[in-house]
Amino acid sequence: ALAGKVALVTGSTSGIGLGIARALAAAGADIVLNGLGVASEIDQTREQLAAEFGIKASYSPADMTRPKSIAEMIAATIAQSGRLDILVNNAGIQHVAPLDQFPVEKWDQILAINLTSAFHTTRLALPAMRRNGFGRIINIASAHGLVGSPFKAAYVAAKHGIVGLTKVTALETAEEGITCNAVCPGYVYTPLVEAQIDGQAKAHGVSRDQVIRDVLLVQQPNKRFATVEELGALTVFLATEAAASITGIALPVDGGWTAH
Ligand code: NAD
Repeated sequence: ALAGKVALVTGSTSGIGLGIARALAAAGADIVLNGLGVASEIDQTREQLAAEFGIKASYSPADMTRPKSIAEMIAATIAQSGRLDILVNNAGIQHVAPLDQFPVEKWDQILAINLTSAFHTTRLALPAMRRNGFGRIINIASAHGLVGSPFKAAYVAAKHGIVGLTKVTALETAEEGITCNAVCPGYVYTPLVEAQIDGQAKAHGVSRDQVIRDVLLVQQPNKRFATVEELGALTVFLATEAAASITGIALPVDGGWTAH
């Protein structure tokens, strides 16, 4: 469904971003990967995507805290392929601390990666999307873009911010064949979460199932993690013609968390 389209996914060297990149590649889009990691492993991912799905896959090491690197990444993408159809703003980090002890440099870093980087990618991608009269901007926010939790001041502020940016982007592009939507996952099963399950089970001397139900998924009524495959499939759908009228939404993928 996405053959001939070019998709850039920030933070796609692991977790949700990688799952989204795989799903977009499986749907036929050429992929620009981005994120931190070991060069040889990233190269392997890139080659595997290209071989498995018969698409072009490239990689930008741009650091999402650096506006100049972001500008170079978008310029290189458009120079290489002549287009940028699908932009997925996914790169993100977390830090947990009470407000009066929240490290100031962590606040700045989280706002830069989780929010400001999407402002830069979006403003720089729009001219190329407008030239083609087509664009899909998908912002990976969070349930924390809709509700708060203690000790996550920077993350919750940044994720609420990206939901706001999503609405403005949607309104400014509404007549141009461009849509912009936010996806708001609850807990998603990634290697990061897997590591927490074993760690917490050992620390508290309880079973993995107890950690999942009573610690990690305490807020998530369906008591199961969303998967990166589910988020990939949703992103592909939002990128297709079938989703042309869906714009400016913040769609929870949270097993009922924000229905509380
Ligand atoms: P992850 O740690 O597996 O992946 C994060 C990605 O961002 C990696 O590719 C990493 O290299 C990249 N990244 C980090 N700092 C960067 C920087 N300065 N420049 C460029 N890339 C950078 O995490 P994940 O769980 O896959 O999270 C992806 C997104 O989904 C984040 O925005 C996160 O807030 C959001 N999210 C995750 C969950 C969850 O349960 N895992 C839930 C809701 C929202």
